[in-house]
Amino acid sequence: MKKQLQGKTVLITGASRGIGHAIASKFAAEGADMVLTHLASDEQGVELAEEFRALGTRVSVYRSDAADFSAVEMLVQDVVREFGRLDVLVNNAGITRDSLLLRMDEQAWDEVLRVNLRSCFNTVRAATSIFLKQRSGAIINISSVVGIKGNAGQANYAASKAGIIGFTKSVALELGSRNIRANAIAPGFIETAMTQDLTEAVKKDWELRIPLRRMGLPEDVANCALFLASDASSYITGQVIQVDGGMLT
Ligand code: NAP
Repeated sequence: MKKQLQGKTVLITGASRGIGHAIASKFAAEGADMVLTHLASDEQGVELAEEFRALGTRVSVYRSDAADFSAVEMLVQDVVREFGRLDVLVNNAGITRDSLLLRMDEQAWDEVLRVNLRSCFNTVRAATSIFLKQRSGAIINISSVVGIKGNAGQANYAASKAGIIGFTKSVALELGSRNIRANAIAPGFIETAMTQDLTEAVKKDWELRIPLRRMGLPEDVANCALFLASDASSYITGQVIQVDGGMLT
């Protein structure tokens, strides 16, 4: 049976761990050629490249700041030079800088908006001309349920994730006639480095509020990303799919 992403080139930001890494693993298993980004260290990039090459995946790894407009433009040009095309873009890179509003400084606001929201503009802006030439493209932006319902202590993060939803819907409206789709995933409470510092008591309390009674796994989000990346979702655009165990129902 043909793999779902065979012959497709995908770009995933923030793929070194957590949800981005799970999406990369799922896409690799479905035959995609991959460009992965991360930021922390060169060693991390080498390990990431080795991991995917060992699986037989054609992969390029870039240490590249998703929030840096020029760096992203160069990255996308490199992708086209090396792979000749780009089919799927996953905007996953994200950070938190949580605090109550009165203690939130300008830097915590700007950093979160830059990495979480501006990064989506950067990559979509850079990739759109390629998608237009190909007359196809799938954009998947990782938002959050917090972008829909808000969260005390996360005003900056919630604003960035709500911004992603507005951005995604606008892109879907603007580019739909050229067969370019844009959708967002709003994960709930997923087990990654981002949530690992929460106390057991807080985790238990959250779990009780989730109808499926468990935290999500990165793979749960990756399954949804695969659907949105593949031709199985070819008539779906402008949507926000919650992967949250029913938490926000
Ligand atoms: P994570 O484990 O902290 O991973 C974040 C990833 O983003 C890492 O690969 C990190 O790379 C990368 N990154 C951070 N800043 C970057 C930048 N400026 N440029 C490029 N890459 C950058 O987080 P996660 O939980 O997997 O979250 C992934 C996405 O899902 C985020 O957008 C997050 O907001 C969203 N989300 C998560 C949850 C959850 O419960 N975990 C819920 C809803 C939404 P380095 O390691 O190199 O820094």
